[in-house]
Amino acid sequence: MVCFKCNGWMFQERFSDPLSDAPDFQGWHCPVCGLIIDPLILFNRIHPPAPRPGGNRNLKSMGKMGFLRKKIALQG
Ligand SMILES: [Zn+2]
Repeated sequence: MVCFKCNGWMFQERFSDPLSDAPDFQGWHCPVCGLIIDPLILFNRIHPPAPRPGGNRNLKSMGKMGFLRKKIALQG
């Protein structure tokens, strides 16, 4: 998969959030710019939600992914 941000090659990896009970999930990581895409982000890219009345949220203020995620590399 090609990165939406820098057009670099993205690698499929497994991610987990050590701060929550959420299950691990499979996503894509760009080693060039650090972008992480999970299945929900990918779905929203393909099917963008309708714009909200009252303006859009500033997603950059949430930081990368909004919370800390521990990466478990899916080697091989
Ligand atoms: Zn990238």
